[in-house]
Amino acid sequence: MEVSVVSADEFVSWGCPYCGYAYSAQMLTHEPSGACINHCVNCGEGFIVVPEGMNQAPFSIDGRSFTLMQHPRQGIPHWNLQTEGN
Ligand SMILES: [Zn+2]
Repeated sequence: MEVSVVSADEFVSWGCPYCGYAYSAQMLTHEPSGACINHCVNCGEGFIVVPEGMNQAPFSIDGRSFTLMQHPRQGIPHWNLQTEGN
């Protein structure tokens, strides 16, 4: 399973790396780094959001580490049900 890792700034701009939805549920926050595992409330995919300047998730899962990637939806503004309905 591939887990996307995006920066906090890019998440704010482009939303979920899979569908672009603006909102996600924070399942787990890593302290004190602030990195968190998110769960998109639209498509249900999980991904990791890391603070600016961090290029890898500060934790591993099952021995795997997760490296920051370019947001796959760069340039496509996030959306939510409010803006979509207009
Ligand atoms: Zn999504």
